Amino acid sequence: MFEKVKSYVHGRYAEPVEGAYVDKIDPRSGLKRSEVANSDARDVELAIESASSALQAWRDMRPADRGRLLNDLARIIRRSESTLGALESADTGKPRSEMSTLMDLTAQYFEFYGGIVNVMDGEVINQGPNYHVYTRRDPFGVIGVILPWNAPLHQAARAIAPALATGNVVVAKPSEHTSASLVELARIAVEEAGIPAGVFNVIVGKGSVIGPVMARHPDIRKISFTGGLRAGQELGHIAAERILPLTLELGGKSANIVFDDADLDAAARGSTTAFTWNSGQWCAAGTRLLVQENIYDRFVEKLVAEVAVLRVGPEDDATSGPITTQAQFEKIKSYFAIAEREGMTLAIGGKVLSRPGLDEGWYIEPTVYTHVTNDMTLAREEIFGPIVCVIPFKDEADALRIANDSEFGLGAGIWSRDIGRIHRVAGRLEAGRIVVNEYSGGFVQTPCGGFKQSGYGREQGVDALSHYTQLKSVIIRL
Ligand code: NAD
Repeated sequence: MFEKVKSYVHGRYAEPVEGAYVDKIDPRSGLKRSEVANSDARDVELAIESASSALQAWRDMRPADRGRLLNDLARIIRRSESTLGALESADTGKPRSEMSTLMDLTAQYFEFYGGIVNVMDGEVINQGPNYHVYTRRDPFGVIGVILPWNAPLHQAARAIAPALATGNVVVAKPSEHTSASLVELARIAVEEAGIPAGVFNVIVGKGSVIGPVMARHPDIRKISFTGGLRAGQELGHIAAERILPLTLELGGKSANIVFDDADLDAAARGSTTAFTWNSGQWCAAGTRLLVQENIYDRFVEKLVAEVAVLRVGPEDDATSGPITTQAQFEKIKSYFAIAEREGMTLAIGGKVLSRPGLDEGWYIEPTVYTHVTNDMTLAREEIFGPIVCVIPFKDEADALRIANDSEFGLGAGIWSRDIGRIHRVAGRLEAGRIVVNEYSGGFVQTPCGGFKQSGYGREQGVDALSHYTQLKSVIIRL
């Protein structure tokens, strides 16, 4: 009998009304691991009703009291790190060694927003002695949070923590491929941290069913969506009809630029992590690696040496694990044929990982293509796998032209020792987050979001509070 992953609504596990489940396949073995509820419209409506019923009391609670509950939840997340980490590692295939960092980040969101909500306030606007004018930040109400599968709890926490802190209630929808850890988080939020039932609900199932029902439901007042461009566009169409506010955190094709004055060893190490972390299943992955012409060959040699020692596999301490879903695995593989057709030069990788015992898992060799031009398919489309295109450039202006020639604008990297150049280039790059002399995901306190087709609105940082509240002016004639 396989474990059944059910929705968690109003402080209880909720059996899907129609009793339907879909199989969850283990990415490490290709075998069935569990069954996940396949919720339908009625299940979504029940979750939204539950959230609506909990709204008034939660929004009326003093921010300090909501903040205390979120901090209690953060403490329990740290205490439950091994349980939550095990669930997430099993679902995603991520190495266990990565989980404590991800669970720490998850807890940090509840600490940060649980604290900062105490100082979030409106302002008094001086209009002379005959008026008292002020602004306040009101919650939206019921917020739908739709999530991808690449870092389930981290992405859930960065949306749910500010939403709850500011007095909203939440119906969260994890990816159908990675639901277990978020269901457990909702359970501990209610049953262990004491967050009232109905404030934090999780509905499990397919996005193509749940997303449109959520977006059309009159009680859903805002959606935070993290995922791919196509689903984001579909949601955007429905939202346009209702004037439903959205935060869209979409895909990327981020440029990572190495100038000739950079520390090339550090740049080769960092640029390897940039496209291989999480097997490349990272929205801000640095998958267009722009390298100055005069150091190109030397740099590629260093890069390939870094990639050659990566350990991909099911082991707890592997550098990265399998691709999380079979559809994504097949999609990544299809790019190898495209690269060959377009005459790209393969420096390393370029195939499914072949090692005894791994044949059934979804493992891809980290792959480097060199002498790529920015018009080639692999340089234009988000692959969401461990493939990097190394593109030569002449000078600063050329680097900027190539970097900004993309429909996406999520992240970017700069490697240089010239502080003037760093600021000039950072100022001109069309991307929501620029990382210099490392390639990392930033901090809980730094805003994250896209330019162009990478989305709009921001998660993380203080600025996210303004995306989970509506500003209201109160004008009093004295
Ligand atoms: P996806 O778009 O397929 O799915 C994301 C979520 O949307 C899932 O929960 C899915 O069930 C749901 N969904 C599917 N169809 C929907 C619809 N029509 N309406 C509403 N919801 C729907 O994305 P994915 O494959 O799970 O994740 C990979 C994508 O997510 C990549 O493009 C990646 O760049 C992006 N991503 C972006 C960020 C960011 O911060 N910008 C972070 C992580 C991932």
